[in-house]
Amino acid sequence: MITCTNCETAQFLQITQSRVYFEDGEMINEITEHYECTLCEATGQYIYDEDHDEASVTGDVELTRERPKFA
Ligand SMILES: [Zn+2]
Repeated sequence: MITCTNCETAQFLQITQSRVYFEDGEMINEITEHYECTLCEATGQYIYDEDHDEASVTGDVELTRERPKFA
């Protein structure tokens, strides 16, 4: 789950851009998502590399292991 580090909630985050990479016609398991908080205007980026089972974030967002309370 991605949350805004300023607001400490995911409630106001919007995905502004999402990208899935392809190689040789097959999907590479790396996903990049850009987030923007509509409350404080913070922005951040989330990158997930499924091959290495690694997720990283940059900017004003953070990755938590909490489950979202609301789907
Ligand atoms: Zn925020």
